[in-house]
Amino acid sequence: MTSRVMQDFNLLLPETVPEALGLLASHKDKATILAGGTDLLVALKFDYAIDNVISLALISGLDELAFDPLLGLTIGAKVTIADIVKSEEVKQHYPALWQSAVIFATPQLRNTATVVGNILRASPAGDCSLALYALGGKVTLESTSGRRDVYLDDFWLSYGVTARQDDELAIAVTVPPPGQGQKSAFRRMTRVTEDLSKINAAVCLQMDGNKCVAARVAMGCVGPTLVRLINVEKSLEGEEITTDLLQAISDTVASDINPIDDIRSSAEYRLKVAGVLVKRVINLALNGGSDQ
Ligand SMILES: Cc1cc2nc3c(=O)[nH]c(=O)nc-3n(C[C@H](O)[C@H](O)[C@H](O)COP(=O)(O)OP(=O)(O)OC[C@H]3O[C@@H](n4cnc5c(N)ncnc54)[C@H](O)[C@@H]3O)c2cc1C
Repeated sequence: MTSRVMQDFNLLLPETVPEALGLLASHKDKATILAGGTDLLVALKFDYAIDNVISLALISGLDELAFDPLLGLTIGAKVTIADIVKSEEVKQHYPALWQSAVIFATPQLRNTATVVGNILRASPAGDCSLALYALGGKVTLESTSGRRDVYLDDFWLSYGVTARQDDELAIAVTVPPPGQGQKSAFRRMTRVTEDLSKINAAVCLQMDGNKCVAARVAMGCVGPTLVRLINVEKSLEGEEITTDLLQAISDTVASDINPIDDIRSSAEYRLKVAGVLVKRVINLALNGGSDQ
């Protein structure tokens, strides 16, 4: 039976990253991290109990949002969705990520929720996660034993499960610098803006004139994790993107996904709109803001 009464837990408030790592090392699977809390606090009210909650609130140095043309974009563990919306550099160089942040929930949510929390939640509906997946990001994880980077391609193992170990803190996510001719976009379909996506898609294309040199196309809400549409990517690569090609690609998307019925939508609806959404998001990337 579900209950809305939160179970008791110890709230731990480390002031430095090493202190947080020490707590993770000693508590392991008896502790969880609290960033913005927009997922965790909901879970704690319903179906999840944990002895120790380690808050990032007092730790400084995790709020870096920095762009370097050679190194790319670094998004620290405390960077919020609102920080992404405010960044002109994200808007200019990584439109997919910016668009995924602009449509994210409500102002209150955007001011609180973090990008890294979105990734660590491992939801197949995560909007910023999907944009970062298309852009090819990687997560930096740190424990008392050291640091390691895990590409998002290898990060989400199943619904709600990531490659993070119990004693690891996600420090940041980094995105490679945009290549020449890079175009990206994000789109979702949803009922009202406060709702999670019914289905979402993100694309990152490396273009040489009209020709697509490389493509990453990702879709959410169509399986237990976010997925890459590898067949769509192969159909785009090496080709001029014409209306005919887009229509042909759009017609094949449904055979590459495996959506389910859930409280937000039906498998039937998702199968019907997936191809249309892919076509629209590619047009949005190519037209730099307009998907007409
Ligand atoms: C009303 C509402 C609307 C929402 N709308 C959207 C939406 O439009 N799009 C969307 O994608 N999501 C949406 N969400 C989901 C949620 O807001 C996002 O997933 C958010 O980005 C989570 O970030 P957070 O900082 O709040 O994470 P938290 O709730 O603090 O944490 C989420 C999970 O990540 C782990 N975690 C967080 N940070 C770290 C870290 N640094 N290291 C290790 N583990 C970590 C936590 O332990 C927890 O398991 C919505 C939620 C609500 C309640």
